[in-house]
Formats: sequence, C-alpha cells, structure tokens
Amino acid sequence: MKKHNFSAGPCILPRTAIENAAAAVLDLNGIGLSLIEISHRTKDFESVIDEATSLLKELLNVPDTHKILWLGGGASMQFCMVPFNFMEKKAGYINTGVWAKKAQKEAKLFGEVVEVASSEDKNNTYIPKGYTVPTDLDYLHITTNNTIFGTEYHTDIDCPVPLIADMSSDILSRPVDVSKYALIYGGAQKNMGPAGVTFVIVREDMLGKVSRQIPTMLDYRTHIKDGSMFNTPPVFPIFVVRETLKWLKSIGGVPAIQKINQQKADALYAEIERNSCFASPVNPEDRSLMNVPFVYSEKCKDVEPTAFLDFAKERGMVGLKGHRLVGGFRASIYNALPLESVQALIACMQEFEKSL
Ligand SMILES: *Cc1c(COP(=O)(O)O)cnc(C)c1O
Repeated sequence: MKKHNFSAGPCILPRTAIENAAAAVLDLNGIGLSLIEISHRTKDFESVIDEATSLLKELLNVPDTHKILWLGGGASMQFCMVPFNFMEKKAGYINTGVWAKKAQKEAKLFGEVVEVASSEDKNNTYIPKGYTVPTDLDYLHITTNNTIFGTEYHTDIDCPVPLIADMSSDILSRPVDVSKYALIYGGAQKNMGPAGVTFVIVREDMLGKVSRQIPTMLDYRTHIKDGSMFNTPPVFPIFVVRETLKWLKSIGGVPAIQKINQQKADALYAEIERNSCFASPVNPEDRSLMNVPFVYSEKCKDVEPTAFLDFAKERGMVGLKGHRLVGGFRASIYNALPLESVQALIACMQEFEKSL
C-alpha cells in the first residue's frame, strides 16, 4: 500500500533525493567508491558541499554579508552556540513553546535572559504580538515555526536589536528576508534533508563582539574560516541536503513551494473546520503551514484517541499521533509531502466522520 508520511521529523524527503543518495552510497559519480568511504578533502566531496552552499544561497537569496555553515550537533547545539557567540550581558527570548524554552534555558548559562513575550498562558496556541523589545538586548531570539504546537510567524518581524531565529521546521517553506536576521539556524531534518547536519546562516560582521573565550569548535568564526571543514563534516547528510535543494530548485524554488504549501494547508484546515469530528486548537491567524495539530471536537470527545489513528493507518497514513503536550493528532505537511497525501488525509477524515 502507498504510504502517506506525516511524520514531524525526521520526515518525508523528495523521492529523487533518496534515490540519488542511495546510488551515491554505492558509487559516487561512477568513481568506483562510495560517498561514505572517501576523504572529505577530495574534489568529489568538495563539489558536493560547495553546491549545497550555493544552492541554499540562491534559493533563499542569502546576501554576501551572511555566511552559510554546515555543522553537527543539531539545532539543540545552536541553543548554546548562539549565546556563546552573541551574548555579552543580556538577551531576549520569545517563548512560543518547547523548543523556544529549551533555547532560552541554555542562554541563562551566559547572562541575563529577558522573556520578552510568551504564549504559555494559552498552551502556546498563538504567536505573541504587541510587545516592546527592549533596545539594550544583545539579540532577540524567536522560533519561527513551533513544530509541536503548530504556530508560525508568517512574516519576518521588525526588530530593533539583532534578530536570531530557529527555523528548523519552516526553512525554505516561504521566502525569507535574510538581511533582517543576524543568524538563522536549524536542524536539516524537517525541510532540508536527513538528521545529522545543522544549517547556520550568520551575518559575519556581528561576530567577535563578546569578551568571553569561545572553544574552537563552538566559535562560528572557525567554521567560516574553514568553510565548514575545520573537522570532518557530516558528509552523507550534506549530500542529501544538496539533492533536496536541487529538487526544490527544479520545481521552481521557494516561491513555487510556498504556493503549494499554502494550498495544502488551506485544504487541510478547511476540512478540520468543516468536519464535525475534529477541531483546531490553534489561533486561526497563527496556524502553521508545516505542522497541523488537530483534536477531537466536543461532539467526539469520548471517541478513543486510537480510533482515528488506527483508521488512518489502515489507509496507509503514518506519523499522525499528536505530541503529548497537545494531544490528538498532528499532520506534518512539509515541503516534500505531496498534495495528494493531504487529499488522502482529507478523504480519510471524511470517511471517519461518516463511520461514527
Ligand atoms: C526539531 C526541532 C529542534 C531540534 O532539532 P535537533 O536537530 O534535534 O536538535 C529545534 N527547534 C525546532 C523548531 C525543531 O522543530
């Protein structure tokens, strides 16, 4: 049976990226060696990382002021690398849920943290607005898409201090004005590739302003200087990133995928609204185009949570279980998830409603 993969991460990737990666593991470019048994200092690998960088630069319109890095450690490592490199005294964080809070917790090790705004009062079902950002902050940190709670910033905010964003789960889903950010980071394993590599886009002239000593591997300048090759980079994930970026470019880039993402999300949210069995816990204007949590409606609140999951599983849908902090269900509908999968889910929700 065809599977529809709604996993939150790691998650669906373009089929061509997976096939090309499988072929390169067996034999890279016909050189008679595997991608994973050659030195990262060979031309064959250097062209892979260089192309991944130039494709990301092109697809996101990254200005020359910003450098692109490929690091290990996941987005979670950036939670400490960011304050290590940017916080002299005081930083601001917007608390929009689990990941935002984890980032904030690490920053407290380096100085004073101001929680500029929070959506915790309503279980993170909205994006805070109307707050004032103190101008004496070293930076403001936001999480542009909240993978667990299904809220998302739909525009690049104006900010009087350097803006730093965790874009793990919505990078490349919409055009971003990179020039508005001092740094953007994320784990690749939602929209960009497999787990194991982290992308960082950093404005170079903002580095070197803190007085503390920074361990070599945690200093962004090390990786800028050595083109992400100070040590052995995660070669396999970087290859798959390149293939994913090639796919994105081939279908028309970020503006084209944004249209498809909007179409997928509109269709799914419309069904959640229409279906008497389901409801969205999220404030309408802040609903994520990437992660769509939904719960049983008042009318269906006594139906077993597993009933819909089992029903969907029988129809080939996987990864729909909601996060325990939200409950219910969550459909992650990242870039690589085709419209047909969303249509299949909608048909399944309609069938489920009739079956009760
Ligand atoms: C998945 C995720 C993370 C964690 O990424 P790791 O690479 O596992 O550390 C952080 N932030 C957001 C928004 C995420 O979705």
